[in-house]
Formats: sequence, structure tokens, C-alpha cells
Amino acid sequence: MRATRVLVLNSGSSSVKYQLLDMADGSRPATGLIERIGERTSRLRHTPAGRPSREREEPVADHETALKAVAEELDRDGLGLDSPELAAIGHRVVHGGRRFTEPTVIDDAVLAEIERLVPVAPLHNPANLAGIRTAVALAPHLPQVAVFDTAFHTTMPEYAARYAIDTAVADAHRVRRYGFHGTSHAYVSRKAAELLGRKPSETNVIVLHLGNGASASAVARGRCVDTSMGLTPLEGLVMGTRSGDVDPAVVFHLTRVAGMSVDEIDVLLNKRSGLLGLCGDNDMREVLRRMEHGPDAEAARLAFDVYVHRLRKYIGAYHAVLGRVDVVAFTAGVGENAAPVREAAVTGLEGLGLAVDPERNAARGDGPRLISPPTARVAVAVIPTDEELEIATQTYALVTGRTTDET
Ligand code: AMP
Repeated sequence: MRATRVLVLNSGSSSVKYQLLDMADGSRPATGLIERIGERTSRLRHTPAGRPSREREEPVADHETALKAVAEELDRDGLGLDSPELAAIGHRVVHGGRRFTEPTVIDDAVLAEIERLVPVAPLHNPANLAGIRTAVALAPHLPQVAVFDTAFHTTMPEYAARYAIDTAVADAHRVRRYGFHGTSHAYVSRKAAELLGRKPSETNVIVLHLGNGASASAVARGRCVDTSMGLTPLEGLVMGTRSGDVDPAVVFHLTRVAGMSVDEIDVLLNKRSGLLGLCGDNDMREVLRRMEHGPDAEAARLAFDVYVHRLRKYIGAYHAVLGRVDVVAFTAGVGENAAPVREAAVTGLEGLGLAVDPERNAARGDGPRLISPPTARVAVAVIPTDEELEIATQTYALVTGRTTDET
């Protein structure tokens, strides 16, 4: 039997998401999620294709226990880690630094390098590592591949990746712009080119990944030339709970004037800012609902306006970076679902050739679709992201030497 399946694991700090994908027919035989790892009760939801989900609530102390539970659930459906159809496991790894520019087969040296990057990704890399180590112990016979969120951005020119700070300090502590969400930016920019019937290598794209975390990227002929997240995922756009760009002196000011500690400011900017900080809600659905009615419509409106203003500035900036733009692609939870955000983001940018067609923008749909008027100079599109498919595709290509089309 030919091994055509890839298990994709996304090990976060308190959750593990997984999908089993079959690269031969595009099916997903199982998907699932374990939440609240390390808390008193954790929840596992496992969904085998075409059958009802199974849920378990029990304490799951750590990633090792979590992955063992995932392996058990897969086993119950005959999809276990020793199944002959399983070709590899693909792991999402948030930070790959400058070294990992491509998906990489995991060995001890790779693990050591991911470990070395923990100081620049203290929230994410330890959880990713815990997931990888357990998966390697559970399935030592399978090739395992790390797919890095930063990899797609390693093509940024040095002048876009550097902060204008003392080079010696920056180099000693690896302070530079890395960018994140790269798997999504890679997938969406390619799909956006496909939607126009063009080759990625001949297409310039601005990707707006607007989820709970949010980032923009400028992609020139298939290669990332700038992105809005930096050393960490805090820089750039306004997000659900993150501030995005602020004057760095805000940190000094709050330390000196408000007596806040560095850790408190870290929490403030990462967890209590963005939409949440501006209006008390981090979910764009709530913000949009409150703008329409309710006693506190004003705070919701201001949060929306700050969010959209930042977005528009990045669209303008990336026009300047790219020179010529063929398509602006909206993706992730907000980008795929919130028509008012998409409309507001391009309003006033007619001079750059941007517009949305109200009917196309309002129409719901599952797949990639154009929302600009047919005569528009620059296409505007909604491209649903699929990071699991991208991780599986890259993993499969690396371990088998085959692309999905050849399977
Ligand atoms: P993601 O991180 O891509 O899963 O996106 C999650 C975010 O998408 C949520 O926090 C919501 O703010 C947003 N979202 C999801 N569905 C909608 C919707 N129908 N309208 C507006 N925002 C949405």
C-alpha cells in the first residue's frame, strides 16, 4: 500500500490541533483538537471523516499525554501512527530564525536549533518542541518534518528585515524582523495568483491575514519582500488582543510613569490591547454587532476605525514597496468573513486602483473568489487560508520527492 497520508500537528502552549490529510485524494480522514492542556480539565474533540465527533473531558497534564490521547483516538478509527498509509508527520514550528528557510526533516541537530531559538519565541517554540519530541518518541519509524512560520519571510531583503538600531546589539541578540504566519502567506499568495490565472512567479500580491493574530505581507513574484510582524508577532496590524505598532517609547513611559514592570507591559500589549483594549471585545463579530446597536456603539466604532486605518496604511505602504500590485488578498477569520472590514479597508484607495463590488463582497462562498468590480485595475480577492494543507503539502513533497499533483 502506498503511503499517501500526512498527520499535521500544531502544538500550541495550551492546545494541540491535528489533521490527517490524504494527499492522493485531498480527503481529511480525521481532524481534532485538545484544549486547556495543563488545566484541571482538558477537552479532546476528535472528528473522523463522515462520522460524529467524539469528545473526552479529562485532565491532560502536558503535551506528551495530549499526543498519546491523539494517537489513541486515531487508533480507534484504524488510522494509528503505525498505519501503512501514513507517510510522515508535519509539525508547525513558529520560529525558525534565519537558518530555516525551507521545511526541514527533523533530527537531533534540528531540535537543538529550534531549542536555541526559544529566547526569541518563548511562548511558542517550547510547546512546538514538546509536541515534536513526543511525536518522535511515539513514531520513531516515521519521517517528521518541521514547517516554520518564519520560513516564507526569509527572502525579505536585508533593508526590510533590519531595525535601525545598533548593529552590534541587534546581531548579538538576533534582533531583526522575522515575520510570522508565513505558511498562510505562502499558500494564499499562490492561490491568489491561481485565481487570476497567472503564475505566482509573475504576480505581485498583498496578503492580509486577518485572524485573531493579523499580519500583512508584500509578495513580489512569489517571494516575500516585506511583512508586518517583526521580532515577535506583536508588530504591525491591530489584532484581537495585540496592539500592533506602537512607539517603543510607550514601554519606557509606562515603566517610568505608571511603575509597570516589563512583564506587565508584555501582557498589556499582547493580551489586553488591540480590539479588546480599545472596546472590550476581541472578536470582530462582536465589534460589528455593537457598532450597529447598543449603548456602547461609540467604543466599538472607534476600535473598528483604528483597526481599519492601520490596515489601509499597510496596503498603501505595500503598494509603494511592490510598485505594481496585481491582487490584494484577504484571508483568515476576519478577512474571509467580515465584508464591512474588507470594504472599509479599500475605501479611499481608488487612486491605487482598488475597489470592492458591494454585491460580490457581501456574497458568501467557501472558495477563493474575486470581490472587486470586473473592470478594476487591481483585483481584490477573498482566499480562504489552509495552513494544514500547506504544511501537509510541503511535508509530503519533502519526504516523498513527489508533489501532490503527481500522487
Ligand atoms: P482565526 O484566527 O483565523 O481563526 O480568526 C478568528 C477571528 O475571526 C475571531 O476572533 C473573529 O474575530 C473573526 N471572525 C470569525 N468569523 C467572523 C465573522 N463571521 N465575522 C467577523 N469576524 C469573524
